[in-house]
Amino acid sequence: MRDSLEYFSKLKDDLSKSLEGFLKEDKYFHEKLLKLKEAIYKTKRAYVETESFLFCKGCAEKGIICCGEGLEWKLSAEEFFLNLALFSLEGKTLSFGNPLKDHCLFLGDKGCVLILTPLFCRNFFCKELQNFLGREKLIYLQSVLEDEAVLTFELCEYLKKKELFQGG
Ligand code: SF4
Ligand code: SF4
Repeated sequence: MRDSLEYFSKLKDDLSKSLEGFLKEDKYFHEKLLKLKEAIYKTKRAYVETESFLFCKGCAEKGIICCGEGLEWKLSAEEFFLNLALFSLEGKTLSFGNPLKDHCLFLGDKGCVLILTPLFCRNFFCKELQNFLGREKLIYLQSVLEDEAVLTFELCEYLKKKELFQGG
């Protein structure tokens, strides 16, 4: 946990310096980011509609937390940058809050603090959740997730070619 806190805190400091310029000067990035934001909220609405969030909330109330230690490493540096940019679009700043011991660094008091979670988390449906949803809703959620996944992939590939991700 300590290592990941140090790593992501430093990454945040380093990337924050380039963030504003990127958002203002890179039209392609800005437009795609707006589309990603829409796609993420479309996914979130689908999770609310299908009562998945409610089901997982019930789990948390029973003290079962599936956001385990180390899962923060499933988030790539590029996805982390996308989070910083999405927070900035909303006039907010990503904060690690009070990370819980033995859990994912991004798990705060009210759940995940990220706007864009790692693909691993987006695709995680435990057996109980799968049974609760049933086949039809599961397929529906996975299809809604596709826009978010494709836009994230395209943006990450774009960012990989940029100087800020090449040790520059
Ligand atoms: S995914 Fe499964 S284990 Fe995790 S919170 Fe939801 S119901 Fe609970
Ligand atoms: S959903 Fe968020 S808090 Fe949970 S494991 Fe994934 S990144 Fe961590």
